[in-house]
Amino acid sequence: MIDVTNSAVLPLYRPSKGGDCPELPRYIVMTKMNVAQLIAPGEPLKIGVIDKPVAGPTDVLVKVEACGIVPNAYNLVTGKSQHILPELPAVFGLDAAGTIEAVGEAVIGLEPGQRVYVDPYLTCETCQQCRRGRRDLCIAGTLRGYFSNTDAGRPLLNHYKTGGLSEYVLSPHRNIVRLPESIDMLTAARFGYLGTSFGALRRGGFTSGKTLLINGVTGTLGVAAVAIALGLGATKILGLGRNRQLLEQVQTLAPKRVVTCSTEDGGDITSWVKEQSSGGVDVMIDCLGFGADSKSTSSLIAAIKPGGRAILAAGGVDGQITQSYWEAYNDVSVGGSMWFSPEDIDRMVAMIDADVIDTSYLTHHSFALSEVNEALTFVGSRPGGFVNTVVIPNRTDSADNWPR
Ligand SMILES: [Zn+2]
Repeated sequence: MIDVTNSAVLPLYRPSKGGDCPELPRYIVMTKMNVAQLIAPGEPLKIGVIDKPVAGPTDVLVKVEACGIVPNAYNLVTGKSQHILPELPAVFGLDAAGTIEAVGEAVIGLEPGQRVYVDPYLTCETCQQCRRGRRDLCIAGTLRGYFSNTDAGRPLLNHYKTGGLSEYVLSPHRNIVRLPESIDMLTAARFGYLGTSFGALRRGGFTSGKTLLINGVTGTLGVAAVAIALGLGATKILGLGRNRQLLEQVQTLAPKRVVTCSTEDGGDITSWVKEQSSGGVDVMIDCLGFGADSKSTSSLIAAIKPGGRAILAAGGVDGQITQSYWEAYNDVSVGGSMWFSPEDIDRMVAMIDADVIDTSYLTHHSFALSEVNEALTFVGSRPGGFVNTVVIPNRTDSADNWPR
């Protein structure tokens, strides 16, 4: 059992019998909150109680109602990732959704009670990339409650040091995304990865009437890319993966438009893609995750039409990408897509709200904060892109006792 007492009222001032100091407050509220902390990589997260953060002038304090967990979180906390972690002990948790508790005095347009998603991507706002509108390329770009790719991101990682596996999370105001009533908190806790797929499709120039190839279609990003591309008006989506059961499940999203193929079958996958797409696809989204090999990505570039785009969306693959002179001459380009922009997430939210993008494919699997290590083990077993693993920080009783 964990300590669910989240506040303690301490006496600050007691007036004397004469009552000669009447304007001072009688009490100050020292508020604590429950969190799940990483003490050392490879060790289970530890449930504890820390001080509840206070919103600075341009900060927003959000009461977390759901925090999404994806397989890469398992890699991070078990020490299998080379990313830079926050100073330990640290409260992890990337994708938080909840309700605004308090706003700083310089925050305009946001107020307590509003339902929000907290975009965890932090940037310096002062470098040339940030100033020219390419926050995705900021040298200090950092995912709050998760990791940084560079030393430049350490100050941000450690300033906003509390992630979503916590009852409250502090965020810069610019990272707050308003949620319409139609979007539930569990779905919003998946927005980091839905948004990453949305951003990758936009960067690839994907629009209605185009064909799409997704390498790694059965995972978190891959299934999201299918759902979003269907909403964007894809005429054909070709999906590659290994798990045949999940590949069949992907096809059920739109049997007339989605065709999948297992890379385990040993055939010429590039030729299969060309056959299925009348010579080549318009856009390829590569969703291969941590530990994958880039060779399949390289070979699939040959299955992209002249003028087409390959977008690397996951950023977890080792190795080289090679491209022939002829492919480059035909304006087939390879690029990357880091996270998503504020415009991307606002458009995606509007499209989900309008049922243009259908997220009903997600099966939510919830855990109480006290079950966070079970949640990490579960997601580490890679249940596939249809499962949304969520920790509910304000629940301390086992999720066996309430609907997951
Ligand atoms: Zn920057």
